[in-house]
Amino acid sequence: MTPIKYKSNNLYIEGLSVEKLADDNQTPFYCYSEKYIEDQYQALKSAFDMEAKIFYSMKANSNLSILKLLLNKGSGIDVVSGGEIERALNAGATGKDIIYAGVGKTDEELTYAIKTKIHCINVESQSELTRINDICEKLNTKQNISLRVNPDVDAKTHVKITTGKAENKFGIEFDYIKSMYAIASELPNVNIIGISVHIGSQITNLKPFKKAFQIIYDLINDLRGLGHKIKHVDLGGGLGVTYSDDDNLPTFKEYASLIQSIFGNLNIEVYVEPGRLLVANSGLLVTRVIDIKTTSQKTFVIVDAAMNDFIRPTLYNSYHEILPVKNNLGTSNKLYDIVGPICETGDYFAKNRNMNSVQVGSLIAIKSVGAYGSVLSSNYNSRPQIAEIIVQNDKYEVIRERVEVRDIIARERIANWL
Ligand SMILES: *Cc1c(COP(=O)(O)O)cnc(C)c1O
Repeated sequence: MTPIKYKSNNLYIEGLSVEKLADDNQTPFYCYSEKYIEDQYQALKSAFDMEAKIFYSMKANSNLSILKLLLNKGSGIDVVSGGEIERALNAGATGKDIIYAGVGKTDEELTYAIKTKIHCINVESQSELTRINDICEKLNTKQNISLRVNPDVDAKTHVKITTGKAENKFGIEFDYIKSMYAIASELPNVNIIGISVHIGSQITNLKPFKKAFQIIYDLINDLRGLGHKIKHVDLGGGLGVTYSDDDNLPTFKEYASLIQSIFGNLNIEVYVEPGRLLVANSGLLVTRVIDIKTTSQKTFVIVDAAMNDFIRPTLYNSYHEILPVKNNLGTSNKLYDIVGPICETGDYFAKNRNMNSVQVGSLIAIKSVGAYGSVLSSNYNSRPQIAEIIVQNDKYEVIRERVEVRDIIARERIANWL
């Protein structure tokens, strides 16, 4: 259920008017519905008839409050860097809650992960495997690992977020996977506990999942036949979300049934690592119209948010619904290009969008920004990173303060010969 709706033509997030939020807080800012995230977690969890452990993929939105609320629900955390391990621990996670994936893990990051006694490292190459074993030997310890398989399956999603084809940098090539398990089983300081796969993101059809999962199913049987202990299968994340009413997506139930039908009788623990799914539609990016410029071709609505705050439209050609915070019913709709102030043509949020007419000073809200929004922001054009706010019914709290320009400049130095 969406927590974002109009009440007498005023946009609300849960029980709080977006206008009220914008009265109290400088625009632009992100705001997230707590209830939405909790409901998504619960809905996914209960879509399974079997036990399935959810490890939230925190790179989608790594704010400490989001992590804490999912940890409180019983979620584990999927991390992709040492920095994310530190964040997860700061949010209250312990080592056993954490799984670490990623194609390039430095010795420093691996040492940190091993010392933190994280639940599992998903290994992506032979050299990584050897490095983990060496580090553990020095620390006189043993680390649980799984190997990440590249199943060579096309996820049929945007090229920049496809990860499971043979030409992608991720995972261990299918033909080598059995010999890698053989090598791992000979190493004294690693302990094989599972197998993992993640084929991409914003996947809107179950077929690629089915293909990949069947490959993994066969592999698990083969590996067990060879004497390897495969206690869990980590199926990654990637299930897509609705960005527009036209999207037709598999339901949680269909996704869970597919997983159950393939792995249900294997006597194996199932892990899933959703990111986008849990948070994308919890969030709004609230921004104010700075200026409106009409040319012979277009009407540009120039807002105070920009691609440094939210880069998805230009990076992935993503579609996002845009809502006026006050719905001026009765005024005629217009075709707008909604753009930011940055000196790049790629700095836009929507093109040729039919919307209620807006004026200079109007507030608008960009939808479905809870995943891969704030986490991808930068300080380009010396624009400070914006605030993040969490909403619980009619309450809210700022969960990341807006950065000040002086904070951005503070770590720079003028070289002393200048
Ligand atoms: C990014 C990532 C995920 C989450 O992907 P979503 O599309 O956000 O669900 C899960 N697992 C791994 C290994 C990832 O890199």
